[in-house]
Amino acid sequence: MPVGALSIGPAKETNEKFDVLVVGAGIIGLSCAYHIKSENPDLRVIVLDKAAAAGQGDTAKSAGAFRNVFTSEVNRLLADTGIDFYRHVQEDLGFNLDITFVGYLWLLTSEEFRRLEALVDSVRKEGVHVKIWEREDLRDMISGMNMDFEGDEEARLLGLGSIFKGLQGIKCGTVSPDLIANFYEQESKKMGGLIKYNTKVESLLLESASKLGIPGEPLIWQDKKIVGVKTKNGNLFAETIVVAAGRWSSQILDGVGIDARMKPKKRQIFSLKSPKIEELLNTKGFNKYDVLPFTILPRAGVFIRPERGERGFWVGAADDLGRPFLFEEDPQAERDYYTYSMYPILSKCFPHFKDVSPTNMWAGQYDINTLDANPYIFEEAGVIVAAGLSGSGIMKADAVGRIVAALYAKKEHADLYGGREIKVSRLGVTERNLGIERFVL
Ligand SMILES: Cc1cc2nc3c(=O)[nH]c(=O)nc-3n(C[C@H](O)[C@H](O)[C@H](O)COP(=O)(O)OP(=O)(O)OC[C@H]3O[C@@H](n4cnc5c(N)ncnc54)[C@H](O)[C@@H]3O)c2cc1C
Repeated sequence: MPVGALSIGPAKETNEKFDVLVVGAGIIGLSCAYHIKSENPDLRVIVLDKAAAAGQGDTAKSAGAFRNVFTSEVNRLLADTGIDFYRHVQEDLGFNLDITFVGYLWLLTSEEFRRLEALVDSVRKEGVHVKIWEREDLRDMISGMNMDFEGDEEARLLGLGSIFKGLQGIKCGTVSPDLIANFYEQESKKMGGLIKYNTKVESLLLESASKLGIPGEPLIWQDKKIVGVKTKNGNLFAETIVVAAGRWSSQILDGVGIDARMKPKKRQIFSLKSPKIEELLNTKGFNKYDVLPFTILPRAGVFIRPERGERGFWVGAADDLGRPFLFEEDPQAERDYYTYSMYPILSKCFPHFKDVSPTNMWAGQYDINTLDANPYIFEEAGVIVAAGLSGSGIMKADAVGRIVAALYAKKEHADLYGGREIKVSRLGVTERNLGIERFVL
């Protein structure tokens, strides 16, 4: 039976009953469980995951970067409060998350800069700290970077325009998704939260509100709700099920006719190191760590992420048109994709990468909300769905957990970290009116 198909026929009954059952021990499911349990210490909350440990899905594949610079105001709010919370966990609670504020640096052509000017003004008014670097500054600070492509035939072919200015997001940087997942897991357990690994949810259990014992129940005229999940080791029941299974969410929900409203798309990361790129890594002047920020090149969303521990960079790209929406259980990175798609742009802007090959590579999938690329959080038939994180779930996980906890408590507004709040229904389906996110990397 495919995952998510409605389970019919006899199943082993464990009769274990919980108040809340979360499907998925990625960063989103763990944050949901943590916030629900913190607000309701007496509830029996359990998280199930088919993997053997926390955060083994796309949480482990992530580039682990964060930023509060988005085109959608809601995405800015979710990420900004999440960053504040992670900083609080590290600085006040003493739980190391490897958080470093290296910044995000967009290298922009004059055309791109002009397109973004209005956005820069409006985010500044909101208090988002962004700095504009003049091209002369960039030239002085980033040794060996190519900025002028005028008359360069190869650059013309690649569609690379000359770099006009740099835009740096200051409250941006890198963090360890593993450590965040561990934090939520450990703290949930301390409060009495339960986690079961190696437990795959085969399907959701749909039942009629009042069973009559007629064959084929639940029938279309009966009120019904999701009452539990089927696993190989038996059924587990809960008042509320939270589906936070990232790119697997559709598989689980499709079988009962609930739409997760996301599509999976592959993204790849390549890890590179060599003395030549170490020099680039140690670029001074942008942050207190004296490393090049997470930098986005002016073509195809190719980015380089400083990896101080490995003394190199992780490289990725905003893969879009031409990359199919195609679910893969275990996507693999493609060396040719690095060689023919990313490398020409990368080595053109940063000759430091010339002839350097990846030492490691991996791939995961974004669960893309194709409508507006903001998360979806809604309740239907006893299931709360938290999906569509669209490639920025690490930085938004804390806010998403709080919104799910508020939705569970039937509150109109969710309290986000740092005293800010958001109307829960804004992330839902029927009252949704969010700006389209254009900064998906
Ligand atoms: C290459 C790449 C780079 C990224 N870079 C960034 C970044 O820099 N910053 C950022 O914020 N975000 C980034 N992201 C996105 C981020 O990784 C995701 O948004 C985030 O991890 C989603 O978390 P999740 O908990 O929803 O999903 P996951 O971490 O995938 O967790 C889902 C869990 O559900 C479990 N599961 C699935 N099906 C079942 C089942 N039937 N039964 C039981 N368990 C099940 C899986 O085992 C998995 O553990 C990146 C993603 C990728 C792929």
